[in-house]
Amino acid sequence: MRRLCSKLFRLTKDDISKWTPIGRHNKRVKSLIFFGGYATLFCSVIWGLYYLSRGNWPHFVINLISVITGVTILVLAYGNHLRSAAIIMCHALLFTVVLASLSDIPMNGIPRSVHMNLLPVVAATFLIFHREGIYLRLLLPIIGLVFFLALALNVMPIPSSDLAAPIEGRLVGVWINHITGIVGVSIVLAMMQANMNARSALESDMRQAIARGEYHFHYQPQIDEFGSIFGVEALLRWRHPTRGSISPMEFIPLAEETGLIIPIGEWGLRMACTQLAEWAKSPQTSHLIIAVNVSATQFRQPDFVQEVKSILLLSGAAPSKLKLELTETALADDIDVVVKKMHALKDIGVTWSLDDFGTGYSSLSLLKRLPLDQLKIDKSFVSDLLSDKRSLAIITTLIDLSQNLNLAVIAEGVEDEKQLMALKSIGCLSYQGYLFSRPLPISELNNLIIGNNVTGHISRHPESV
Ligand code: C2E
Ligand code: CA
Ligand code: CA
Repeated sequence: MRRLCSKLFRLTKDDISKWTPIGRHNKRVKSLIFFGGYATLFCSVIWGLYYLSRGNWPHFVINLISVITGVTILVLAYGNHLRSAAIIMCHALLFTVVLASLSDIPMNGIPRSVHMNLLPVVAATFLIFHREGIYLRLLLPIIGLVFFLALALNVMPIPSSDLAAPIEGRLVGVWINHITGIVGVSIVLAMMQANMNARSALESDMRQAIARGEYHFHYQPQIDEFGSIFGVEALLRWRHPTRGSISPMEFIPLAEETGLIIPIGEWGLRMACTQLAEWAKSPQTSHLIIAVNVSATQFRQPDFVQEVKSILLLSGAAPSKLKLELTETALADDIDVVVKKMHALKDIGVTWSLDDFGTGYSSLSLLKRLPLDQLKIDKSFVSDLLSDKRSLAIITTLIDLSQNLNLAVIAEGVEDEKQLMALKSIGCLSYQGYLFSRPLPISELNNLIIGNNVTGHISRHPESV
């Protein structure tokens, strides 16, 4: 239960792309959450004052709860905790509209109308949580629809008439509630349509991008305790012909949904291995390792191991210089199959890193079974390291854990000296982050490596697009 609650309400900053489809849609969802917060606050303040002036305490208390909910939604949304704000908003609106509908007792000539507002709430829930688990994506909207049906057909038990809303204004209320219900649903439907259009345009562009050579890698250096570059992480970039550079955060979730991540991932592995073979020719670069992100969908392919082996063979790259980064979602499948696949590649020298470590729910027993080489501490912990004692405690625990499991550990998202010093003092000796370098195009990276084969921090470089 505790695990379910923490999963549902985890306060993840600015991670909207993980649970909504694509970039422009994210902005719409963001606006929807802010609109929901302000609407909740505005309506409940007005109605709260109205009921206060009439001394109607039960309704005043309901609206007071709504005011607190509206403020909570806005505080979370402004703090970039959008997922939590959206979860609270959808539940609170469902609850308050049902409650208000119960006091909207139908009578001769005045039908019940407040329940019309459930329709936009249901549609918005469905839209916002499009990529979430079954409860938020499906069950919550269905619960809303069941309440709507029960209220529309008057099969809900009618509460005592003490709780009935005052009769005056109810006729106007019928109009207002029908209009807000219909306009609300129309707005959400228009957003869904715009989202579908953007999605299909992006999908068709993504299909053609490999053939057009629009994908490329930027490489971000990984640094050891002496300040030397021992490897890089390959980070995908898409130079779109009309939209310019598109972030992987925007197109990788969609590539995963459509299965396009498989050809894109294969292209990435070929690219990285070709680069390794190139670097192997020079003593200045032959020691470098390339870490490649492998998506769960790509890893799940039955021929994944064979594909990596044949790419390594064809490119002539040394397997020991290829590091594959998996996230915990890739480990959620049949663990025997996962372990077998990882071992098959580890046996030929490929190494494994667990990305975004600390954000998922891997158990200790699971970690013990996996043939991992490295744990990568998520940047959200590093960014909060100095301000939040819990992040420091988590990182310390993760480092202890990696030492007990005999795994290397690297911290990502290191942005300043203070974070670096703190990480060093608790035993983390490998780093990646803007403090050292942003992800760079290959030509700039080569210049950096050649000009920086010395101990000490490498200078900051703006990311070229
Ligand atoms: P990730 O694997 O966690 O990659 C790290 C992200 O953090 C990168 O964002 C990187 O540019 C960014 N970053 C690096 N240093 C710092 C720092 O000091 N501060 C901050 N705030 N951020 C930093 P990017 O390049 O936008 O990639 C985002 C995500 O897209 C990656 O997260 C990874 O999950 C995915 N991705 C990128 N390339 C590929 C790829 O080739 N294949 C797959 N499957 N996923 C990829
Ligand atoms: Ca990564
Ligand atoms: Ca990461």
